[in-house]
Amino acid sequence: MSKMDKVWAALEDRDLELGPEPAVAAPNPYQHWRLTRDRHDVAWAVLDRHGSSANTLNTAVLVELDAILDRLAESQPKGLVIRSAKRSGFVAGADISEFVELKTAEGVARQIGRAHEVIDRLERLTIPTIAVIHGYALGGGLELALACHTRIAVTGASFGFPEVQLGLHPGLGGVARMTRLIDPIEAMSAMLTGRTIHDRKAKALGLVDAIVPERHVLAAVEAAVSGKLHGARSSVSNRLKESAPARNLAARQMRAQAEAKAPHAHYPAPFALIDLWEKHGGDFEAMKRAEIGSFAELLVSETSRNLVRVFFLREKMKKAAGKPPTIAHVHVIGAGAMGGDIAAWCAWKGLTVTLGDVDPKPIGGAIRRAAALYEKIGHKDGIKVRDALDRLIPDVNGEGIARADLVIEAAPEKAELKAKIYAAVEPRMKPGAVLATNTSSIPLQKLAETLQRPERFVGLHFFNPVSKMQLVEVVRHDRLDAEVEAFARGFTGLIDRLPAPAKSAPGFIVNRALTPYLAEALILMDEGVAPEVIDKAAEMFGMPVGPIELADQVGLDVALAVADSLKRDLGWAIPDAPDWLRKKVADGHLGRKTGQGLYVWRDGEAVKAKTGGPSPYLADRLVLPMLNACVAILREGVAADEDTVDGAMIFGSGFAPFRGGPMHYAHARGPAEIRARLVALAEAHGERFAPDAGWAALDETVGG
Ligand code: NAD
Repeated sequence: MSKMDKVWAALEDRDLELGPEPAVAAPNPYQHWRLTRDRHDVAWAVLDRHGSSANTLNTAVLVELDAILDRLAESQPKGLVIRSAKRSGFVAGADISEFVELKTAEGVARQIGRAHEVIDRLERLTIPTIAVIHGYALGGGLELALACHTRIAVTGASFGFPEVQLGLHPGLGGVARMTRLIDPIEAMSAMLTGRTIHDRKAKALGLVDAIVPERHVLAAVEAAVSGKLHGARSSVSNRLKESAPARNLAARQMRAQAEAKAPHAHYPAPFALIDLWEKHGGDFEAMKRAEIGSFAELLVSETSRNLVRVFFLREKMKKAAGKPPTIAHVHVIGAGAMGGDIAAWCAWKGLTVTLGDVDPKPIGGAIRRAAALYEKIGHKDGIKVRDALDRLIPDVNGEGIARADLVIEAAPEKAELKAKIYAAVEPRMKPGAVLATNTSSIPLQKLAETLQRPERFVGLHFFNPVSKMQLVEVVRHDRLDAEVEAFARGFTGLIDRLPAPAKSAPGFIVNRALTPYLAEALILMDEGVAPEVIDKAAEMFGMPVGPIELADQVGLDVALAVADSLKRDLGWAIPDAPDWLRKKVADGHLGRKTGQGLYVWRDGEAVKAKTGGPSPYLADRLVLPMLNACVAILREGVAADEDTVDGAMIFGSGFAPFRGGPMHYAHARGPAEIRARLVALAEAHGERFAPDAGWAALDETVGG
């Protein structure tokens, strides 16, 4: 059992220490809180947000906290404890759905200003105030905890300000309080990256004053109330880092790092945060005031609106995964690039996995890759790493097939080979088990033809690298049983991936949309445009990597095979791949995996020459064919709706999240304008740009 599992098991065994039971005679006047007083005359305000399995902060919660502070002012207890009644954790952040309703920066500032008054009031209490935190304290939750005098973490607790992921920075005094409490450089780094801070690191930083197991919470509270628990307080060296010259210097470095990660024009929040600290660091009240205005401006920005949309898209997809099915054992066939990583990921997520291959060598390679991955993502938790490795079982003879609830085939992309594998595997599977394929391009109905139980056969199309790409296309065909499709969706939820249901059609959703974009990049290269200029054009649009670098990452052999098959299956009007590209593939220059492709690769990085800025015209040549394909995908019913396409492209290809997805971008720019551009491009460069018939069906409203 991993350490975290033990922590949660301990929490399951023992009820959370929530102070005394409320008196039955007096009904609870609060909807979201419960207020009691223990035998040491300490008040316990326990947050238990009504109708939700997790706590988030919203106006109603803060209005009630204000009322609780009124009550405490009258009754003067010896101390106040704030904690959560939810097993899932302390507070997951602010309620984002409230953000969406606010339309102007002034309106946001007014609302946030009122919330500040409550949090400031909590901070001003003269009695000891103690936040007891189990699970996570994120965003607004951490801001609430920071306004208490003492923070006690229950073992396993974690902390963070993930606001940057929503195009924001903390807005409820978090910037001011975090930079005041701990080393401001560490505070800024945590807020700029949005990373999670685990309990021990939080203690080392001085973010929490103690870490205790659940059974010692009462003793720790007593110690805090009686002044015996002294946490770390901001040191002289921390204060020195707050001096204006030190801030100027550090801010310059932070800006350079932020710009290298994501350009200011696309992601303004990190820069607003750096400005805030550079201008007001060391002046707590000024910082708090400025934090409100800066947060309000960001919240109504296009970037934040789109990133909030991405947040809700993710939630929607998680929900679409539905109820997790009972799966104890997964068998994976093929331990290559994909099969090995799918198996490793499933084992990491708690499933027993057997991994088979015709050749034992790739199995060994897959286990080594898994060990390296687990070390990286396991936060030095040796037990968790060991447990996951124990669950990943090499299986040369395919003995796991008979025990598996789900068999995932990830053998080479050849229909006859896959059919041969199914003929051998299907009779060995237990009744009721599901067979899935990771094929990227072979029509599912074709693969289903030779099966005994085609209704229990489904596509589970993962993306590379599996541990990073959250999307799995769940591909259906005519004979698929609806329950099996639901099982496959549930499986993606079980392993913490996001499902995009797709009808079996060439390229499904993501490859169908991505291939014209990659093909156009290669055509541009063929025309003599430097690869660096092409990549820069896509990056300036907001893609995480340019198409030439992406083709090298995917592998030129794979990219070429997908392009060839889509050209054939869809009758695309794209020119044949140039001879020099086919020669590269024939010579084994396949991209990153061979050290040379369209770029030379050194230490996992493409070696690029310095270039000037590309013309904006280039971005349209790359991106509009992708949008055109998305429209065709919708028209043909490959994806059910625009949100599915946007979610699939963001989580499967990294499509610029701050643009809210390709369809959202199409609506924001205007379908009529895009259609006109496509017509002009078709006249200049050929029929491949001809607008899809589906554009006519799109109106000018914002999608999703
Ligand atoms: P790969 O060549 O890296 O791995 C295939 C593995 O299957 C090899 O280890 C090989 O030894 C093994 N194998 C061959 N014949 C076998 C048999 N009869 N029984 C068991 N194992 C056998 O290929 P890959 O890139 O992992 O692709 C596997 C599948 O995943 C393909 O269908 C591919 O289209 C799909 N896919 C690939 C990617 C990608 O980026 N590479 C992404 C999504 C889907």
